[in-house]
Amino acid sequence: MRKFSKLNIGSAGIPLSTPNKNTLNGIKHVKTLGLDSMELEFVRNINVSKELAPQVKKESEKNDIILSCHGQYYINLNSKEKEKKEASVKRILSAARRAYESGAFSMTFHGAYYMKENPEKVHKVVKDALISITKTLKDEGVEIWVRPETTGKVSQYGSLIELLKLSQEIGMVMPTIDFAHLHARENGKLNNYDEFCKILQTIEKFLGREGLDNMHIHFAGINYSKKGELNHLNLKDSDLNYKDMAAAWQEYKIKGVAICESPNIEKDALLVKKEYNSQKKMFEQDSITPEFDKSQKAKGKYSRYKIGGGKRTKP
Ligand SMILES: [Zn+2]
Repeated sequence: MRKFSKLNIGSAGIPLSTPNKNTLNGIKHVKTLGLDSMELEFVRNINVSKELAPQVKKESEKNDIILSCHGQYYINLNSKEKEKKEASVKRILSAARRAYESGAFSMTFHGAYYMKENPEKVHKVVKDALISITKTLKDEGVEIWVRPETTGKVSQYGSLIELLKLSQEIGMVMPTIDFAHLHARENGKLNNYDEFCKILQTIEKFLGREGLDNMHIHFAGINYSKKGELNHLNLKDSDLNYKDMAAAWQEYKIKGVAICESPNIEKDALLVKKEYNSQKKMFEQDSITPEFDKSQKAKGKYSRYKIGGGKRTKP
């Protein structure tokens, strides 16, 4: 499986500004924009044909663009209807196969609904299904990370802890960490530097450094209610604190892919990449932004996580 040297920020699907919109042009355009990754959006159907897949892989390698994949929406591994459950398994398998043929390193999806059942029971159902799915893929030589995503609604299976446990339990499974979903799921919490650091710290606790060196992230502006996610927004229209999020990413020196799912796709991807790079400079120069200074350093929080010579000082 692929090893990463940095965090590759990119777009959820073909950038809107791509001339002559198709997957191959999308990859080229991601490069032109100065982004590093693109997610293949198989959310409604698998829109890369078997014939096109090797060309997609080649184009991504040529342009040094990392590809990930979002599997289909219509998945519920906890469905009580046998046909629906079987269809869900089939959708995960077919998206994973085509994503792998297209050169994607990871395939994400929303795993299940609780259906008002005990979360522990649902965890076991999802776990058993994913053990069987990953075995099938392994037997076929399909080398791709199978990644259930942290979900935005409280009715959906996929809390951070559930997915970290699942990742410990199954070799080919790692989580997709959707920061906007976590924020919405917790009804507005998980939105400052300390809280973002906590998320990353928890990942490291369960999965070790590998968890932080092999990340599949989603972010977006988001609108939510008590029940969680309502819809995605552009960052400027939402309260997601992307500056603190980028600072926490720098602090933990995470690697992998971070995909922007705002409606404006590439614009917010570029905004976050710019913020991430400027945070990097600040971390390197050991200085921090004025807002950051006020909100974090004053509380003594910044120094808790400060990196000294590459070693983390534990809080
Ligand atoms: Zn998703």
